[in-house]
Amino acid sequence: MKKRISLLFLLLSVSGISQQKSIDQKINELLAKMTLEEKVGQLNQYTGDNTVTGPLTINPNKKEEIKAGKIGSMLNILGSEYTRQYQELAMQSRLKIPLLFGLDVIHGYKTTFPIPLAEAASWDMAAIELSARVAARESAASGIHWTFAPMVDIARDPRWGRVMEGAGEDTYLGSKIAYARVKGFQGNKLGDLNSVMACAKHFLAYGAAIGGRDYNSTDISERALWETYLPPFKAALDAGAATFMNSFNDINGIPATGNRRIQRDILKGKWNFQGFVVSDWGSIGEMVNHGYSQDKKAAAYSAITAGSDMDMESNSYRYNLEQLVKEGKVSESLIDDAVKRILRKKFELGLFDDPYRYSDAKRQQKELNNPENTKAAREVAAKSIVLLKNEKNVLPLSKDAKTIAFIGPMVKLKRANHGFWAVDLKDVDSTYIVSQWEGMQRKVGKNTRLLYAKGCGITDTSKAGFKEAVDVANQADVVVLSVGERPDMSGEAKSRSTINLPGVQEDLIKELQKTGKPIVVLVNAGRPLVFNWTADNMPTIVYTWWLGSEAGNAIADVLFGDYNPSGKLPMSFPRAEGQIPIYYNHMSTGRPAKNEDDKMYVSAYIDLQNSPKFPFGYGLSYTSFKYSDMVMSKSKMSKNETLEVSVTVANTGKVAGEEVVQLYLRDKFASVVRPVKELKGFQKIKLAPGESKTVAFVIDNEKLSFYHEDLEFKSEAGEFDVMIGSSSEDIRCKGGFELID
Ligand code: BGC
Repeated sequence: MKKRISLLFLLLSVSGISQQKSIDQKINELLAKMTLEEKVGQLNQYTGDNTVTGPLTINPNKKEEIKAGKIGSMLNILGSEYTRQYQELAMQSRLKIPLLFGLDVIHGYKTTFPIPLAEAASWDMAAIELSARVAARESAASGIHWTFAPMVDIARDPRWGRVMEGAGEDTYLGSKIAYARVKGFQGNKLGDLNSVMACAKHFLAYGAAIGGRDYNSTDISERALWETYLPPFKAALDAGAATFMNSFNDINGIPATGNRRIQRDILKGKWNFQGFVVSDWGSIGEMVNHGYSQDKKAAAYSAITAGSDMDMESNSYRYNLEQLVKEGKVSESLIDDAVKRILRKKFELGLFDDPYRYSDAKRQQKELNNPENTKAAREVAAKSIVLLKNEKNVLPLSKDAKTIAFIGPMVKLKRANHGFWAVDLKDVDSTYIVSQWEGMQRKVGKNTRLLYAKGCGITDTSKAGFKEAVDVANQADVVVLSVGERPDMSGEAKSRSTINLPGVQEDLIKELQKTGKPIVVLVNAGRPLVFNWTADNMPTIVYTWWLGSEAGNAIADVLFGDYNPSGKLPMSFPRAEGQIPIYYNHMSTGRPAKNEDDKMYVSAYIDLQNSPKFPFGYGLSYTSFKYSDMVMSKSKMSKNETLEVSVTVANTGKVAGEEVVQLYLRDKFASVVRPVKELKGFQKIKLAPGESKTVAFVIDNEKLSFYHEDLEFKSEAGEFDVMIGSSSEDIRCKGGFELID
């Protein structure tokens, strides 16, 4: 039996190798036929002309360029019909090299899922993978080969608008999510018609923009690069990410797009990445603005030598690479390497066998109306909601409540629930998006009266609607009040210096508080907000982010207890913008404050506490969990051993619920100071009322290792603290062990 299995393995791997070889051969044969101009064409990516509605009119110049083989990829072409029409042009080119179609399918295609930061709050890798899978299925059926996702940039600054697109502040959690998202988009094999190529972006450190201002410079120590910013990219690569996108920012003075060490030495060298790197939109040409390249020709030179394979929209390669080769400044083998990387993906996607295989109107029709996708969106959305406060147990609401007032500027919005990255599809109206109002209407019983008042706008300063809102609240048993940011206040180029609840929304809350009615506040936002008055004075707060097309249903599921909230914050919520950057895994100083009131020559603000308003990993449930019986398998561990630590978690409440059990470690003394705690494991478990489970974590040498002064990644003998809890600040069990050489 054993023999047969190994024979089978041998056959499989031999056939794998021969298939690989045949792709290599095909690439080489094709490359040999290509002129230099055609090669440069493959490195050139342009945006499409029709992205939203109306008949397709392809720009006549682009038409000719595609037919002449001068474009290798298009972005922003939507739908099976349009992608097919573009591909037909490529099939008129001399060598018939198919186009690649890329799109920002960030959190859904037609069916939208929660913004990525919200999904990160689910701490549920299966849910996150499923969301990417559905997005892949829908977009792949619509002719898309490639999504520009996931964004795996670690971000510790909520002023930065793009925090909404990432997984938050933590490298460990971010790496797990990066892996899950790539797996979801790509599955196990490129060319499967239910998958699209993933693109890990933005390489590198885009999320560390100084002052949280989008596109700004970054200034990062070498150790922070390795320890904080690189690991999620490595995780994406380990999951098989086919492509990477570089970034707009400079890193310590070198623009990422022209950064040879980052792209060629680390990504393609040390990590042996075999896919291709696309520039960010125009970022090659922008090296002129950086003051790094004196013109686009110099920019093209820097980018291609640094390892940027495809030029998105800057025209720098298109008009300069041939010349640079002819002048002997860039060797043709460098161009060949980039072309081969791109052709390989086209072969792996099966486009040379059938260039139209993804553009299938029937499959598109079926997939875009697949009820399974809607079901998945509702489940993932419910899992992404974070219950911040429920002091008076107003939640869950009763379905038999006599009168509910649903108030606020968010209640009846439809498309807003998509969040910033929404794909606006031709011929698709927004009826499939469930507003918060509709979700509530569908949920309540026949005998419940549902009242509505807008109260105010999101950013308007008019209080004219307050009176109506108060009247409506006065008629109700309970008020649900939906406030927040506009969805376009977070996202690309949407940095804010004040991250408050905009307009007069907080005044509306104050006005409604005076009615004395129980109020549930829903906060919709693409980032952690600073909303201290509300956070201090309102006993019931639910953070709903932007949840996608099933937002209304998911919110109603949570409000009425059909789903018991289980989300945990993936970012620290500051008390004030002045605390930013604020993150849980900071170092200790030589003068740590003993408590929140300690201001005596310690590292503290004289006018504010150090701690966040809501910490990383925090989130409540309608039930409660008791942690006990921490057991460590040993008190000393050598570097080639592992240690198991377990705790018992019991559901001590009356309803079933999920808990994210979090493991944090601290290396107490080391040659390089270590963070006060670092997440090194988590498990999301479900418990029936009264049920308890033992949750075990294995600690190995890798979890104890860190980058030393010489950047070697290794552990150091000594004492470690072990902390297991319900959030980064709510540690329920503590222990320790000694690592010995
Ligand atoms: C963004 C990328 C995005 C690209 C294409 C850029 O402005 O930074 O993340 O993929 O546009 O739309």
